Amino acid sequence: MFSEILRRKSRQVLIGQVPVGGDAPIMVQSMTNTDTEDVSGTVAQVAALARAGSEVVRVTVNTLGAARAVPMIRAQLDAMGVYVPLVGDFHFNGHKLLTEVPDCAKALAKLRINPGNVGHGSKRDDQFGAMIATAIRFDKPVRIGVNWGSLDPELIARMMDENGRLNEPKEADAVMREALIVSALESAAKAEALGLGGDKIILSCKVSAVQDLIVVYRDLARRCDYPLHLGLTEAGMGSKGIVASTAALGVLLQEGIGDTIRISLTPEPGGDRTKEVIVAQEILQTMGLRSFTPMVAACPGCGRTTSTFFQELAEKIQTYLRNQMPIWKSQYPGVEEMHVAVMGCVVNGPGESKLANIGISLPGSGERPVAPVYIDGEKAVTLKGDNIAEEFHALVDDYVAKNYAVGAVRKAASRKKEIPIKKVA
Ligand code: SF4
Repeated sequence: MFSEILRRKSRQVLIGQVPVGGDAPIMVQSMTNTDTEDVSGTVAQVAALARAGSEVVRVTVNTLGAARAVPMIRAQLDAMGVYVPLVGDFHFNGHKLLTEVPDCAKALAKLRINPGNVGHGSKRDDQFGAMIATAIRFDKPVRIGVNWGSLDPELIARMMDENGRLNEPKEADAVMREALIVSALESAAKAEALGLGGDKIILSCKVSAVQDLIVVYRDLARRCDYPLHLGLTEAGMGSKGIVASTAALGVLLQEGIGDTIRISLTPEPGGDRTKEVIVAQEILQTMGLRSFTPMVAACPGCGRTTSTFFQELAEKIQTYLRNQMPIWKSQYPGVEEMHVAVMGCVVNGPGESKLANIGISLPGSGERPVAPVYIDGEKAVTLKGDNIAEEFHALVDDYVAKNYAVGAVRKAASRKKEIPIKKVA
């Protein structure tokens, strides 16, 4: 039996119609890497990210052309029936762009402001104030997103000086971590003093090292009740980016910290941007925090498997299930909690297959060329011959239609349950 996860208590903020914080499920978001001035390219990528399951999509707004493109992007997405909220990412010139193109602010569901990049010296407060004024005028929430790589230089200089005057100064890294938190909290306090509601603010303090991220967010979570956006910034490419993000977010989510997540993967050249959405969903689903798509359990294979048949079948089934979800979501409520097993031999095959809603145990080397299929824990049929993959596919479809159609009486709702999540009182 799993213990409950006690989620940190936070205020709730609405991004468009999507709630973040409070009792809302942990939300998945992503960011485009197209030039925002390229309206059709950005529309296509936002739509792909939304179809993959991103519940909010951020776009960079770095030029006048990009600011002017945002309302067009919004209009085209709406015309396609893609209503995913858009967030504008502003640095350096956000105050100017938002003032010159008010329709940009109107079309966005949230503004992301990096307090390290809103200007220096005497201009800083005015420029920050102008962005907050726009958020208030158009009733938009704001994420105050601090980043290790662009920490406010004046703040860090001030804090280093103060630290240097202490009898026992802290390590420079500890001062940097504290500066991240102070930057976020002071900026939030300023925004509230300017009239932005406390229920319109989300905070993030992103760093690129796993242990630093954990320490910073634990501290930040203790010191405020704003919803927190989690992400390991510049996580990197391929498996390194996935592993580092999972390690950091896994610890924090297990401690109930984090109301929305983004996985900052560097795509391989020509790679698919939607990967970051899938990884975010898989982190939440494998931790039992949310369900997005039926999961396939597959063994790694070993010397007992003589071909790649079972790996191919596992991959095909997982891809098929994921691709079906946009349709199945409304047609078969609860199907996202289904568990499927594709196993390589008799050692663990029958056992794991019995634990799934539907599972197949393929023949290993030296075994009879037959594949028993288990449904809701019972052996239902044994497949053999050249069409095992197609026949198993059909059995999965049949299982879904029988068990998840609206009004269907489900024999086994889900054999692996989500972890109960409770809010801290
Ligand atoms: S289930 Fe069989 S094939 Fe798969 S890893 Fe275990 S022993 Fe190897």
